Amino acid sequence: MSALIDQFGRTIEYLRISVTDRCNFRCRYCMPLEGLPWLPKADILSYEEIREVVSQLAVMGLKRIRITGGEPTIRPQLATLVRFIRDVSAVEDIALSTNGVKLPELASELAAAGLDRVNISADSLRADRIVAIARRDLGFEPVAAAMAAERAGLGPIKLNVVVMRGVNDDEVVDFARLTLDHPWHVRYIELMPVGSLEPMTEEMVVPSDELLVRIQDVLGPLASSTGPARGNGPAAYYRLEGAAGSIGVITPMTHTYCGSCNRVRLTADGRLRTCLFGDHEVDLRGPLRAGQPLAPFVHQALADKPQEHALLTHRVGGLRALSQVGG
Ligand code: SAM
Repeated sequence: MSALIDQFGRTIEYLRISVTDRCNFRCRYCMPLEGLPWLPKADILSYEEIREVVSQLAVMGLKRIRITGGEPTIRPQLATLVRFIRDVSAVEDIALSTNGVKLPELASELAAAGLDRVNISADSLRADRIVAIARRDLGFEPVAAAMAAERAGLGPIKLNVVVMRGVNDDEVVDFARLTLDHPWHVRYIELMPVGSLEPMTEEMVVPSDELLVRIQDVLGPLASSTGPARGNGPAAYYRLEGAAGSIGVITPMTHTYCGSCNRVRLTADGRLRTCLFGDHEVDLRGPLRAGQPLAPFVHQALADKPQEHALLTHRVGGLRALSQVGG
């Protein structure tokens, strides 16, 4: 079976699977408060169908999976899907992106099912501010969620912080301080202008170079680091002297890393999306439900994978929210 290589010679080995477009948060930079219609249930791939997609792509070279959403932990029996994917022997790494709300309840069950690790989105360490950003009061405690993941053995644990000037950028140092005592990897993500959301001006983007200077001013020098053992992706990593964990920056707005892109995305309704930004996608649900082999459709998608994303020129296609495609 021919390999997963795109038109620019990039080898694709990483699939991000969105298992739902729904979320229990309404983060102000991600989803509108209302007016975003949910996908009809019948359109959403079943866990058995997702297993079939993974199995067919694994034969072609897929090695790493991330389960995402929407919020994946609100889809019932997520552990069943983890177990299905774990049974595909070519898959070396299964990660989960979550807002962490349900981790204290689910971490050990997911680990037992074969989940390797988690990324937790946490934009603030302050209760009132979490509610102001997420626009839902679910009692989320980022440190407790990370500890639950750690106890369940779901490491390396990454905490993803979307930094917004004037909203949470005064907590950048507090997040970095967590890495002194915990073997966690705090990653700062530059805010991306997506969708028809509450106006997000460019002034709210805090360039990663600026926040690294801020951290060094308070906590001392940062040395370049190799970062976590698994799943380095597009982040550049640093470490504070004597720290147990590391600091990473993900810079879609100020630096591009599309040349080394190794990923594609499966939307909850079964479209293979080859770039987070832009409308490059191919329907896999139709052929899957018709019992057709997926390889020709996957190759068609890869032949169309763009060389780089159009974020910097603000051509982000019809994307209304990252929750729709699995951020
Ligand atoms: N619900 C899961 C979570 O919270 O991780 C998975 C889906 S969420 C869409 C994935 C990631 O996308 C989160 O870390 C979120 O903060 C990030 N994200 C969403 N909208 C963004 C934006 N406009 N700019 C930067 N990151 C964004």
